Amino acid sequence: MNKFKYIMLTMLLLLPVVADAEPYIVATLPALGQIAAAVAGEDGKVKVLARVGQDPHFVLPKPTLARHLAKADLLVTAGLALEGGWLPPLIALSRNNRIRPGQAGYVAGADAIEVLGMMDKVDRSMGDVHPEGNPHWWLDPLRAAVVASAIAERLAKIDPDHAAAYHQRATAFGKRLQALVNIWKPRLAGATSVVSYHDSYLYFSQRFGIPVVGFIEPKPGVEASTRHLDTLLTVIAREHVGQIWVEPYHMGRIVKRVASLSGAELVNMPDAVDGEGADGYLAMIESLLKGAGVGR
Ligand SMILES: [Zn+2]
Repeated sequence: MNKFKYIMLTMLLLLPVVADAEPYIVATLPALGQIAAAVAGEDGKVKVLARVGQDPHFVLPKPTLARHLAKADLLVTAGLALEGGWLPPLIALSRNNRIRPGQAGYVAGADAIEVLGMMDKVDRSMGDVHPEGNPHWWLDPLRAAVVASAIAERLAKIDPDHAAAYHQRATAFGKRLQALVNIWKPRLAGATSVVSYHDSYLYFSQRFGIPVVGFIEPKPGVEASTRHLDTLLTVIAREHVGQIWVEPYHMGRIVKRVASLSGAELVNMPDAVDGEGADGYLAMIESLLKGAGVGR
């Protein structure tokens, strides 16, 4: 092998190493991964811990997930203790100090947005899974846009060479989301009240002006009793509830029974769908909007 060939070969071998220099971003949930990918574009790599169709409160903290955290430059979470039951042990296992809460490599979307569902005091009685306020902000497209900007800020610090590109992508993503809201908000105006299984849709329903008047769970994370369901049926009749919104992982016997007893329409409202980056996130929001718009 002559010297020139040797140098070429060495350079080729080094290429993947150079490519690995792009920020490695780990997101806890599929939608957060899509928001992060919308911002990172070709300049970063995104890995998501939870799968589409999993309850985001209850993900099994498999040690294999910690391997991704070990090499992460940035961790994107929902925050407000949403991942409190499964993420802290994984961060500890990863031994990656850069992505611990409070570090530059840790972003909780909730820290960037106006939080809803705050309580006067932290309350974990009765197994409450929303002790610090409602963590399901990613179902509001405009809050997702705010979080995209926060992610861009952080990526710009980690990878200053591509700072402008991160900011540009976050702005473009925000414009697409605002356009979607502008189209759908008037379309959903005057929508009938709804009931949902879990308190997942607070941010979404408030953005589009749809009242959520009750929940199948008596408290977030608590299973319904017969007595609670009887009260809920009264509420559904009194408030002329037209739809029951259910997360795919809560679709089952109880919701079907409430729907058939009340006559309200059962609507599958996913908080995660498959799809890449901005398109994937928008597909989820469009799926929610279409669900909310059925028969209206
Ligand atoms: Zn929740």
